[in-house]
Order: sequence, then C-alpha cells, then structure tokens
Amino acid sequence: MDHAISFLLRLLLLVGAGAVGGAACAAETAKDTVDRMYVLECGESKTKDVSANWSPGANVGMEWEFSDNCYLIQHGKQLFLWDSGMSDSIAAKPEGVSGAGGLLTMWVRKTLVSQLQALGIAPADVTDIAFSHFHGDHVGNANLFTSATLYIQQAEYDAAFGSNPSKFGFNPALYEKLKANPTIKLSGDRDVFGDGSVIILSTPGHTPGHQSLLVRLPVRGPVILSGDMVHFQDNWVHRRVPARNFDREQSVKSMERVAALMAAEHAELWINHDKAQSATIPKAPQAVR
Ligand SMILES: [Zn+2]
Repeated sequence: MDHAISFLLRLLLLVGAGAVGGAACAAETAKDTVDRMYVLECGESKTKDVSANWSPGANVGMEWEFSDNCYLIQHGKQLFLWDSGMSDSIAAKPEGVSGAGGLLTMWVRKTLVSQLQALGIAPADVTDIAFSHFHGDHVGNANLFTSATLYIQQAEYDAAFGSNPSKFGFNPALYEKLKANPTIKLSGDRDVFGDGSVIILSTPGHTPGHQSLLVRLPVRGPVILSGDMVHFQDNWVHRRVPARNFDREQSVKSMERVAALMAAEHAELWINHDKAQSATIPKAPQAVR
C-alpha cells in the first residue's frame, strides 16, 4: 500500500515537473525576435593616450583605436536604426578630423548613406530611430532621418534641446532637424514593437539619458548593444568609468544593471567602440541573424 502511494506520488510529481518544464520551454521559444540586423561601419577613431579620458589611471600613455558602428534592425515592415555614427561629411577628409576636444582623430571610410544604399534602403525608409546618446560620433547623420519616429529619454532630450547642450558635449547642428520628428519621450525602458524583440534599456551615466538596446536575434539569440555604457572589454571587466562621463555613480549602476540582465537573458554584450570585438561581427551587406 505504502509503495503504491509513494509510486503514485512520484508519478504525479514527475508529470507536474514535466508540465512546468514544458511551459517554461514554450515561454522561452515564444519570445519574438527581429528578422535580421545589419551592422554598419560608421567611422573609426584613434587617441594618443587612452587614459586621458577612457581609462583614467590605467593604460597610461597607450595609443588606442576605436570602432564606431550603426545597427539597422529589420522587424517585419519596420526598419529601426540604432545610432547614426560620425558625420558622412568626414569621409571627404581622408586625413581625418579632430574630435572629443582634441583627444581623438576621427575618420569615416564608408558613408552610412552608401552602406544603406547597398541594401536598397534610403534614409526616408527608416521608420524608427533611437540613439544611445547625443555625442557627435552617434548622431553624426541624425539629420538624414527626419521621417522616423524618435525614441529618446526625457533627460537626454532636455540636455540636447535645452539651453546649454555644449555642457554635455552635444553639438545641435548635427541633430537639430530631429526636433520636428514624431517623438516618443521615455523615462525608463521601452519595448519598441510590443513583442519583446527590441527593448530600449535606460542606462544613464555617460550622458543624462544614455540608453542601450536589447535585440533578440532569431539565431544568435539576445544581444545587448552597449552604446557608450562601456567603451571596450578591459573597461568592462574592471568597471572603469571614463573621466568625462556625466555621472560616475549612475555609470557604475548602469554597468551592473546590464551585467545582471546579461546573466538573466543569457545575452551577449556587443561593445560599440571595442575594435577587436567589432572585427568579429559580420558587417553589412551581410545580415546578422
Ligand atoms: Zn561614442
């Protein structure tokens, strides 16, 4: 009798566990994904001393090269652009231009417009746009995308369109046309398409309304696009905060937040300015899926 009851109990437990496991699996696979993403090369830069801003106290006197990418995400009929890189006008200057208050030399080898054109896409076809933040190496071509719906944190909007944008290192000439875009102002995260496939993450610190982006790719799985929440792997490992960040405490909190999210989502972190990592990611016209 005891045996029979214990057997039945175990059977029930097994069935129960199986049902729960099955439901969890279904929920896992039911998460929507985007169709594909194109990673575009949107400039490169070099500094003579990376410790001067990016890794204070570390790598002193070391030259450092940075990548700078833009990301075009296809979701059904919608085209979402994340960051617009350095201005295409820099391509006309093969010797490069000075940036970051003289700390950087910046080059554009291929224009964003030409890379979009190779995909059969005109700037006016982009339906949705967001920027990690409003520094010149991210909003360099913003004025081209006047028909897209803009997603921006209220804090970034106030800094960029307020009375003293230069206080934050912003140059309104690069993005002033966005003022007329259909605009959704955010105070936190945003599920862009309502299906969990693209989520804007509030990661303030580098600038007042800095944001990162969680993208669920159909094959690779979830990827978090860093923006300038961190600039390269060594800084990520050591949780270093660049000297010129807007808020040091927020910057550390944002890194911890992303680290926790990566663990929970089993997500990769793609660090926009990390040249070595960038080199491992396929670039347009090849799609990432
Ligand atoms: Zn940057």
